[in-house]
Amino acid sequence: MAGIYIHIPFCTKACHYCNFHFSTSTHHIERMVAAIVQEINTLPFPAQDIDKNIETIYFGGGTPSVLNNEQLQSILNACYEKFLVTENAEITLEANPDDITRERLKGWRQLGFNRLSIGVQSFADSDLKWMNRAHNSATAADCIAMAYEERFEHLTIDLIYGTPTLSNEQLLINLKTAVNLGINHISCYALTVEENTALDYFIKKGKIAPVNEEVQDEHFHIMRQYLTDNGFEHYEISNFAKPGHRSRHNSNYWSGRPYYGFGPSAHSFNGDKMRWWNIANNVLYMDGIEKYQPVYEVENLTQEERINEIIMTGLRTTDGLHIDEANNKIGAYKTTPEAFLTFISTLRSYITEGKIIYKNNTAIINSEHRFLSDGIASDLFLSYD
Ligand code: SF4
Repeated sequence: MAGIYIHIPFCTKACHYCNFHFSTSTHHIERMVAAIVQEINTLPFPAQDIDKNIETIYFGGGTPSVLNNEQLQSILNACYEKFLVTENAEITLEANPDDITRERLKGWRQLGFNRLSIGVQSFADSDLKWMNRAHNSATAADCIAMAYEERFEHLTIDLIYGTPTLSNEQLLINLKTAVNLGINHISCYALTVEENTALDYFIKKGKIAPVNEEVQDEHFHIMRQYLTDNGFEHYEISNFAKPGHRSRHNSNYWSGRPYYGFGPSAHSFNGDKMRWWNIANNVLYMDGIEKYQPVYEVENLTQEERINEIIMTGLRTTDGLHIDEANNKIGAYKTTPEAFLTFISTLRSYITEGKIIYKNNTAIINSEHRFLSDGIASDLFLSYD
């Protein structure tokens, strides 16, 4: 089964740290929706042979909650007409707190959305102001309570840690607030400074202190401890879920299932070695789609690139890296003897240090050290030269 990702490239306000593709000029929304529908109807060439059975649909962005119900409906209809969407599909909408009202929640339920991802980021007003978010903490708490009342049982929030305005005490308050509100899935992201963002500019100008990695590491440990003590499973480097509430859509990315991406900047993967992604420019995307011209670039991954992706994503999750499965999928053992010996000895030393647990042919990073998983993964990367 495959997944569908729809990128809605509009936001009402630009957050200082964000480098996702979006525009704050929303007058093209109607035309953009028509282009996305057309892209789904015609399917780009590389997508023709992928599984048409769909078990997850995810509206991300940008801010999909800026679309009205008719616009959301027309995109969903296109998905249902083009694909075989399973009956119990997970259908997620990302929404910002300032867009959430009781009426809108009822409308989203009627459209078939059964999971809501709310961009809370923090419950501290000082933090939200620093990030240039469009909502305040009271709005965030109110909309979560309302979403539960409207039967959004699968609800996730995003939180950001490692910001200069976030003390350890406030981080704990954020986590306690989320737990007390009954949240069953939390995505926690370390603040990263991306090029060409307002945050990057302010740091370079000396107006904001640079990100402190020690503070981020401390925040990560506080967060992991608090959430696991409160019944959450730390199932991926940035994701925590109560039993039965893991994100099916994201879990499919990490386990290498195929996915279709529609909309500007959306990425797609055929489940093997081919990826493609749409142009990250609203006008060029709409112009190209309307003229039936390709708006994507394709990349064919080498065996080395693909196996190292499998190592990286596997080690970020609690399911870990299943060595035999990696071998069956991509030929992990067909490296040079030297590269394979280095892989084994590096793996052994991480096991001896207690950073990796190895059982049933599966390497799993000890949750305590999962913050370092990308570094550990890169030490294990295989070479085929
Ligand atoms: S709302 Fe989300 S996508 Fe839009 S600018 Fe803020 S973080 Fe980025």
